[in-house]
Amino acid sequence: MSDVSAASPTGMTPGAIDPHVVDRFEQPVDGKMDILGLDRAELKTALIEAGVPEKQANMRTQQIWSWVYHHGVTSFDEMKNVSKDVKAKLAERFRISRPTVVDAQYSEDGTRKYLVKFADGNEAETVYIPDDDRGTLCISSQVGCTLNCRFCHTGTQKLVRNLTANEIVAQMMIARDDLEEWDQSSHGRKVTNIVLMGMGEPLYNFDNVKKAMHILMDEQGIQMSRRRITLSTSGVVPMMQKCGDEIGVNLAVSLHATNNDIRDEIVPLNKKYKMEQLLEACAKYPGAHNARRITFEYTMLKDVNDKDEHAKELINLIKKYKLPAKVNLIPFNPWPGTPYECSEWDQIKRFSDIVFQAGISAPIRMPRGRDIMAACGQLKSESQKIRKSELLRQQKAAAESGEVVVGAD
Ligand code: SF4
Repeated sequence: MSDVSAASPTGMTPGAIDPHVVDRFEQPVDGKMDILGLDRAELKTALIEAGVPEKQANMRTQQIWSWVYHHGVTSFDEMKNVSKDVKAKLAERFRISRPTVVDAQYSEDGTRKYLVKFADGNEAETVYIPDDDRGTLCISSQVGCTLNCRFCHTGTQKLVRNLTANEIVAQMMIARDDLEEWDQSSHGRKVTNIVLMGMGEPLYNFDNVKKAMHILMDEQGIQMSRRRITLSTSGVVPMMQKCGDEIGVNLAVSLHATNNDIRDEIVPLNKKYKMEQLLEACAKYPGAHNARRITFEYTMLKDVNDKDEHAKELINLIKKYKLPAKVNLIPFNPWPGTPYECSEWDQIKRFSDIVFQAGISAPIRMPRGRDIMAACGQLKSESQKIRKSELLRQQKAAAESGEVVVGAD
């Protein structure tokens, strides 16, 4: 693995956060800088460096930002209020790319799953879930995952690498392309909410996730409200406060158990950060209160965590730590080779009733997109960790052509 504990040349948080983050800098293959993934200040600086006069830089930044994030254009030619000369200059230095959507599957319930292929051939999945009053985009933050939660299909795929801010923002862009929602006022939008619950642990890719969310929240761009963004963590305790302070989005925690014995088994990260530490960090999460509760995700696994006594244990924990909490009960979504079964429907209902009766909201989340394997815990792309020999071969070839390849340990 590359040594990322040294100060990073991009000023990103060094990877002393366990496990080491897989660093990767944004180096486009054609030498052009991609506009997606730059924040507005960076775009302005890049424009000045490209020769745009300083006194025009704010205006040009605003024009480009608007074309990219309000109109969804992917070529400078389409920017009608930008002069021909400037457009030519921009096209020489920059691009506005989209990753390739290698596969788009539409479920009979309206869920859409996109298999997205990035410039280096790695893939991740993005899922759009429409509801009566909202449309939620479930975004991936990594290719694969290090955490191996036992009930999760993604966890069976090794971590290949972190996604860049560009690649995280791009997932929103391809969904908006597919849903044809450019040039809409905020009232007509189909993607109203974002959940960072796709592939990967977002708090192990903090800098890129933070940057991407700030770009999507930018008041002159897509303007997603931080109240409509939820970041889901498996319990990376040391990063939780930072997440609340620096991103300020809603928090969801993949809890799935009510004591350390069970959680150690199904969420192995629990061996490192015990439930007591996790729940204390939840109690201190910035901005959490009764009107903005923490969501606990709880996958219902037959004979593992679904008994009445577990429901009571859950209530006691929420009360003990005085958590402004709601619990999402998720019927387990099976995938090939899983050792678990979904709890019986009657038991899920009973569990929900017990928690509700204690005054804690515990809705049962109906599975969405099961027919296209897009439901919670079912995502898994075909990308595999690059073998060391293959990585070395790629690095050698890249060095000869002037590109940069980083990744695999
Ligand atoms: S549940 Fe999330 S953190 Fe756990 S293995 Fe799956 S993708 Fe990784």
